Amino acid sequence: MRFSNKFRLLMALMVCAVFMVASPAYAKDKKVRVYKGKPAKYVFLFIGDGMGLPQKGATEAFTGEQLLMNTFPAQGMTTTYAADRFITGSAASATSIASGQKTNIGMLGMAPNQKHVKSIAEMAKADGKKVGIVSSVSIDHATPAAFYAHVPTRGQYYDIDVALSESDFDFFGGGGLKDVTNKKKNSKNYKGNALDLIKKAGYKVVTDKEEFMALKPADGKVISWNAWLQDSKALPYAMDMRPQDITLPEFTAKAIEMLDSPEGFFLMVEGGKIDWACHANDAAAFIQNTIAFDNSIAKAVEFAKKHPKDTLIVVTGDHECGGLTLGFAGTKYGSYYDALKPQTISFQQFSDQVVPLWKEEHKGNASFEDFQPTITHFFGLEFEGDAKKNPLVVKDYQLAMLKDAYARTMKDETEFKNPELYNLYGGYDPLTVTITHVLNNNAGLGWTSYKHTGVPVATSAMGVGSSSFNGYYDNVDIAYKIMAVMGMTPKVHAAINNAEFASN
Ligand SMILES: [Zn+2]
Repeated sequence: MRFSNKFRLLMALMVCAVFMVASPAYAKDKKVRVYKGKPAKYVFLFIGDGMGLPQKGATEAFTGEQLLMNTFPAQGMTTTYAADRFITGSAASATSIASGQKTNIGMLGMAPNQKHVKSIAEMAKADGKKVGIVSSVSIDHATPAAFYAHVPTRGQYYDIDVALSESDFDFFGGGGLKDVTNKKKNSKNYKGNALDLIKKAGYKVVTDKEEFMALKPADGKVISWNAWLQDSKALPYAMDMRPQDITLPEFTAKAIEMLDSPEGFFLMVEGGKIDWACHANDAAAFIQNTIAFDNSIAKAVEFAKKHPKDTLIVVTGDHECGGLTLGFAGTKYGSYYDALKPQTISFQQFSDQVVPLWKEEHKGNASFEDFQPTITHFFGLEFEGDAKKNPLVVKDYQLAMLKDAYARTMKDETEFKNPELYNLYGGYDPLTVTITHVLNNNAGLGWTSYKHTGVPVATSAMGVGSSSFNGYYDNVDIAYKIMAVMGMTPKVHAAINNAEFASN
């Protein structure tokens, strides 16, 4: 309560960012850091990037079914802020969850003073356990990297790729590597092509689905990514996947098969594109990715049923994204989630493939009316009919918005410095983001941002020591709770946090 009252006061006074930096004190939940039972041998940590309560609630309303993660016996609420900003980013948040260390925006595996901190994954490896890291975005992206890299800036992809080669972790799977040759030239320590270093370290590199499916523990250390990487070396959105693509649940199942061993394992799985879809305000895309994430959790639950006395599964989000809420002024008390079902393609695929093709074929000679059937085809929105009765019918004011956006898209406008235009389109293709706004609003969903928000997230747990995940606590406590259940001693980290961030 101390934190929330104080924070509310600060918000009311509209104090400057500098003041806010010093203000949040994390809720030290000492009693749940002590676990006295037998340590868990198999530990899963699932991180839904950008997955707050609205993302989970919308997915359940869409499918009509409860998410598996929401059936777990332990349910907690988690605050997410960074050391230097109330609204966190994936690097700072993942560092907190991985190591119990509050840090600054953009920093990975280190305290704000650049002192390196050990992640649960590194501690598990040192304890002789197998370790796996799976993500639907590039495997050197902030969330996965927080478990094996220590860099002051998350964009140091080359250094992160080198750290991966030196990690000795057993399984990496999902997206690819962003900068194996130091193209960005932001590494001060070039050691040669990072993929060569990864191979030299004994990793088998697999990108073919058949070869992937045939992998066996005897193959040793593996790094694997899907042959088609859609954007920024990430897996395609779940709704854009083709049969020949490797899904997040398939990567998770293979990781379990590869890691299962008498010494036990730690496996982190990130649903990374829930976040990306929410940045772009595309509800159908984040819902399908949340379903894929939940299906990945199902693989862990299957395993836990065979080893109920030795397994802990923890599921959390690193922050909310998009300022999503389950209600919209235009629909009052109405919710029409079925309106999201005709959408068959993600915003990304639409703006990468459909829009450029249209531009090329019509060279600016086509009107918005000419384009309407394409919108109906991919999103289900209709341009005739009674908008009062059918949420798929575009309202008059929405038609004006779409026409405006279409004109800007045809003129290749995508970067908007003007604040009014930024509010409308963010950094996205104007037409695409307007289509998802219209469709999502008509379904009864509201977006308030193209960035993350500061609302707390939910943390769920089942299995050994799971009851310690009930309650209201900060994201650093997730690391402490997991370490406690794994029989690790987190005292070094506690000292750093207490000295530097909990002074008030
Ligand atoms: Zn994000």
